[in-house]
Amino acid sequence: MKPFDITTVRNDFPALQQQVHGKPLIYLDSAATAQKPQCVVEAIDEMNAKLNANIHRAVHYLAIQCTERYEQARETVRRFINAQKTQEIVFTAGTTAAINLVAFSFGERFVRRGDEIVLTEAEHHSNIVPWQLLCERKGAVLKVVPVDDTGRLQTERLPEFFTDKTRILCVTQVSNVLGVVNPVKEIIRLAHAHHVPVLVDGAQGIVHESADVQDMDCDFYVFSGHKLYGPTGIGVLYGKEEWLEQLPPYQGGGDMIASVSFDKTTYAGLPLKFEAGTANYIGAHGLAAAINYIQKQTRAAIHAHEQQLTAYAARQLSTVKGLRTYGTATPKTSVWSFSMEGVHPSDAAAILDKLGIAVRTGRLCADTLMQRFQLQGMIRASLALYNTKEEIDALVNGLQQVQKMLSGH
Ligand code: PMP
Repeated sequence: MKPFDITTVRNDFPALQQQVHGKPLIYLDSAATAQKPQCVVEAIDEMNAKLNANIHRAVHYLAIQCTERYEQARETVRRFINAQKTQEIVFTAGTTAAINLVAFSFGERFVRRGDEIVLTEAEHHSNIVPWQLLCERKGAVLKVVPVDDTGRLQTERLPEFFTDKTRILCVTQVSNVLGVVNPVKEIIRLAHAHHVPVLVDGAQGIVHESADVQDMDCDFYVFSGHKLYGPTGIGVLYGKEEWLEQLPPYQGGGDMIASVSFDKTTYAGLPLKFEAGTANYIGAHGLAAAINYIQKQTRAAIHAHEQQLTAYAARQLSTVKGLRTYGTATPKTSVWSFSMEGVHPSDAAAILDKLGIAVRTGRLCADTLMQRFQLQGMIRASLALYNTKEEIDALVNGLQQVQKMLSGH
């Protein structure tokens, strides 16, 4: 196995070879979506150009090839997250779609008036709003576990949130704002001791941390392909078979049925029961290519590289006057959100953009965290396996220029 080599890695990503505004692109927005390696681009291109046919239906050559690739992708995902069975891997359009599926189907089956859903203050809108919709539909109640000033989830308070009406706990593995890694294994153990199942939002977590669903013992785990160096429009819902078996379908249509008549329709078994309509088989194949790419680099090498960058970013960002970071608790992944005294985040981002530096600004799909820290918005720099210390230096230089131009520091 060749060692992790950052130059080789960067050359694998065509998007990183370009200039923007006449400057080399410094892409620090991977928590929103990651760039894709050439092997993923080629996997998608090949299927679009040559191997395209609808899956699970026809018996001709192309259809069989596509079906095989789709089901191979399911097996690749199963191995990647160490699920016990491929039936437990449902392809969705992404994290949001997967959470909506669980909120609907789990809610239909298990949630009644007065029941309680527990979330955390560090959730993305995707892991809040579907549960609010469920609460409105069923007359259930949301309860929210807070984070402290360092962004650490107050897990010691969890027991006070569990009652005999608690139906599910939904928690992010890694916050897309704070970058703090939640101790999900410990949280799940505690929830299970109170007979509460747990959905883990792995949209950020799977990119930087282990996502072994059997080790975590989570009941549901969801993630998106596009943050994991794969294509957009594809994601995964993992659910323990014993749960998925009990849930009614979310959407009706082709591929999710066993038989249809006007009197009675019966449903396909797992996982197809939850995959109505033409699946994104090209996206699934692209996601498998991304997973193979990650495994080729090795998860351990990527983790070590990102942890070095995270430590370096912490030191360098602390040298910028008037900059305050949110999410200082450890362990932490390579996501840095901050505010700058006297500087509007959008103005900072516009100046950085002219320097070729792409960061995210605004409320980061986390209004509740903005309220928690009493801000209108933040600036977020999020790093991935292809970023370098030199890029962090460029960011810090850029932020110093922003300070001089906008706040006179
Ligand atoms: N949860 C978290 C923690 C996220 O970071 C994101 C994406 N920013 C989502 C959910 C939603 O993912 P998607 O938009 O791919 O459905």
